[in-house]
Amino acid sequence: MTADQTPDALVIGAGPTGLMAAEMLADSGLAVLLAEAKPSVGRKFLMAGKSGLNLTKDEPEAPFLTAFGSMAGPLDTALSEFGPEQVKRWAEDLGQTIFTGSSGRVFPKVMKASPLLRNWLARLDRKGVTLKTRWRWTGWDKQGFQFDTPDGVQTVRPKVTVLALGGASWARLGSDGAWTTLLAEKGAKLSAFAPSNMGITVEWSTHMAPAFGSPLKSIALSSGGKTAVGEAVISRAGLEGSLIYQFSAALRAGAELQIDLFPDRTETQLQERIDKAGAKTSLTNILRKTLRMDQAKAALFLEFARQTPRDTLGSALKALTIPYTGTAPLDQAISVAGGLCWESLSEGFELTCAKGVFCAGEMLDWEAPTGGYLITACLATGRAAGLAAAHAARSQEP
Ligand SMILES: Cc1cc2nc3c(=O)[nH]c(=O)nc-3n(C[C@H](O)[C@H](O)[C@H](O)COP(=O)(O)OP(=O)(O)OC[C@H]3O[C@@H](n4cnc5c(N)ncnc54)[C@H](O)[C@@H]3O)c2cc1C
Repeated sequence: MTADQTPDALVIGAGPTGLMAAEMLADSGLAVLLAEAKPSVGRKFLMAGKSGLNLTKDEPEAPFLTAFGSMAGPLDTALSEFGPEQVKRWAEDLGQTIFTGSSGRVFPKVMKASPLLRNWLARLDRKGVTLKTRWRWTGWDKQGFQFDTPDGVQTVRPKVTVLALGGASWARLGSDGAWTTLLAEKGAKLSAFAPSNMGITVEWSTHMAPAFGSPLKSIALSSGGKTAVGEAVISRAGLEGSLIYQFSAALRAGAELQIDLFPDRTETQLQERIDKAGAKTSLTNILRKTLRMDQAKAALFLEFARQTPRDTLGSALKALTIPYTGTAPLDQAISVAGGLCWESLSEGFELTCAKGVFCAGEMLDWEAPTGGYLITACLATGRAAGLAAAHAARSQEP
């Protein structure tokens, strides 16, 4: 058996979480084998780069944690040790000039992931991490971890392991969720995957076709007892965009969705202008000329509220109910809810049903909106799991 098959530490999955865990283990002086099923690493990370690579959100710890909802508790320690400031420094150390947009979102200036990833892989290589691609973990046998590889089945017997296998969306990028069967067989508790940061489906009439691809700017969305202002996009399938994604949990549960098309004006202000226009003015002219609505907003209103009596138009414009039919499929979601339940992990991210095996990243049961929260939590948990695994490996030394 060659040396790289009995490494001190095995990391499975080479997304941002696995790369971070591998680096922590290598920094602790351990021999690390990083195994990845795909022919190349970080495919979802590179895909995130196509929309600019929003690395983190420049905001204080308390509001940052709030974005993780009920899962803020288990993530608290990892994120307080590696939060927005640390992510910014980490990216700079990897040669990136970063900038913070007006909404606090932090991006590399090049607005893509490949230069950062290239530098990171070179750094891991210098630190002695052995990377094996096309190595798919297929399960445990008595000897250790079994992999399907181009050279046949390989078994790895590490002192410690970090699983960083990702969620279950965009399966073609590697995160196919197939690992759930392996962990369930081992006795771990799993919560069913559900789409997060996903669009919603709406059965549009043909009247909406010209609006496909158009933004709905400066709207307020209310659902599940929460209201937020932002932008959504009308798509062929329904509605999408960061404002919609913030309501993932409520929309998954089928909560009512209302849009305020004029968050800066009161119902009375709107109704007064409508009344002044007079009964002879057509509804289309009221929307387009009297209220100066853009085409996308007017189309949306006409789609669902064409029959509104003139004297209640003001209130209808501020609370337009969208009869959405569901959410976009899991595989199209930017991220997932569900995964490995926290009760199956110790505080140090170690599986209670498999000592010496640590888990991190999107495979864990948490969700957060877009805005850089996802990558930050993946890096933070990858780091925490890597450090805990390194500690466990060291404690096995004579
Ligand atoms: C279109 C898109 C845009 C995004 N934009 C952003 C953004 O701007 N900001 C942000 O914060 N987040 C963004 N995300 C989310 C972010 O990319 C993910 O949350 C993050 O990549 C998850 O990291 P991970 O390492 O936990 O999992 P992944 O990146 O999914 O990596 C898991 C790895 O494990 C490998 N693997 C799985 N099973 C096995 C196996 N059995 N054996 C061996 N290897 C295996 C996979 O091939 C994969 O390489 C975006 C996601 C998408 C889809």
